[in-house]
Amino acid sequence: MAKLVYEDGRLLFTKEMKKEYKMLIPAMAPYHFEYFVTLLKSEGYNAEILKNNSFDVIHEGMKYTHNDICVPAMLVIGQFIDAVKNNGYDVHKVALVMTQTGGGCRASNYVSLIRKAFKKAGYEFIPIVSFNAVGLEKNPGFSINRSITLKLITALIAGDVMMQLYNEVIPYEVNKGDTEKAYQEVNTTLNEYFYYPDYKVFYHPTRLFKKIIKRFSEVEVDRSVLKPKVGIVGEIYVKYSPLGNNGLEEILRSEGCEVITPNIFDFFIYTFDSSIHDIDKYGGSKKVKYLYKILIRFIEFRRNKVRKQLKKYGFRVPIKFYDLRDYATGFIKRGMHVGEGWLLTAEMIELIHIGSPNIVCTQPFGCLPNHIAGKGMIKKIKEKYPISNIVAIDYDTSATEINQLNRIKLMISNARRNM
Ligand code: SF4
Repeated sequence: MAKLVYEDGRLLFTKEMKKEYKMLIPAMAPYHFEYFVTLLKSEGYNAEILKNNSFDVIHEGMKYTHNDICVPAMLVIGQFIDAVKNNGYDVHKVALVMTQTGGGCRASNYVSLIRKAFKKAGYEFIPIVSFNAVGLEKNPGFSINRSITLKLITALIAGDVMMQLYNEVIPYEVNKGDTEKAYQEVNTTLNEYFYYPDYKVFYHPTRLFKKIIKRFSEVEVDRSVLKPKVGIVGEIYVKYSPLGNNGLEEILRSEGCEVITPNIFDFFIYTFDSSIHDIDKYGGSKKVKYLYKILIRFIEFRRNKVRKQLKKYGFRVPIKFYDLRDYATGFIKRGMHVGEGWLLTAEMIELIHIGSPNIVCTQPFGCLPNHIAGKGMIKKIKEKYPISNIVAIDYDTSATEINQLNRIKLMISNARRNM
């Protein structure tokens, strides 16, 4: 069994553990995280996404966190503890992976919160690996090397494309099941791609993206029936995670809507851009600022290639990051980058511009930053865009689903009337 090694009181994930341990990842973005697991496997890690989503998750979360903590933290911790207790893992051979933003929000403290909860639950021997781009908490058995970084960039673009195409096609498919079939086909191809040896990752897989987009364009659709377009914005966890938002995407689809969920990659670019802003404003390393700028340019260069293909096959073309940032001007300052910050406001305005003024703004209980940038901006947006039809839904583990559903249905009926 791998030896437990500590550094400043923190249990490290060692090279020995890399060979023996399974890395558990909380479920957040279903379209993206599967590729993360594949790319980690291709780098020699044994990883798995947690799928447990019963009431026990909430129960464990409430038991091991303070009841003032924001809902995403409670659910993530609850999912980890429930999985370790009930999923039949060898508890001495698992590690947990958690993203850490390094920003001013509570998301930066999830890792220490998980450690505290694990100690309380008697699992302090389980290593917690922080997955971050800012060099926090280094572990000898895990590093984000060049190959992982490049694969991650492609995986995030791929997840965004899959999420967009699936939602853009499925409401209009003529033969039920065709979109799902196309999705499964290209999903297999993508997973194979992410398992390739790392030399391939230096090139943008233009042909692969072309194949994916073309395959979705071949699904027979009938767009003569108008369907309300509904956007989902909000805090990153409740926006993307079906566990966090009670399956919102599925609910909207079953109500006959076309769902539009903004790209997840913009959130990551937003964190790089926020660091640039802070260096300009408060000082800091010019080298770091330059590196973030280059990184954003590189990501946008790759995303432009995908935008071209989307345009060619008649799909919606996602806006460029700096244009998205401009949408928030006059509403909220760029310095407001705690939580989703100005990005949340900008995404609502983007949705209005692309013909989807119907918006569900998902707000987790206990999340102050997103109540300011989300709910707090609705009045101002309504003044400039009277057509906007935004409903803020609170996601609280003790709230009833029926209440959320009724408010969503009211927003959809307004959307139908406006159509
Ligand atoms: S953005 Fe809100 S919900 Fe997310 S970690 Fe921060 S406080 Fe919690």
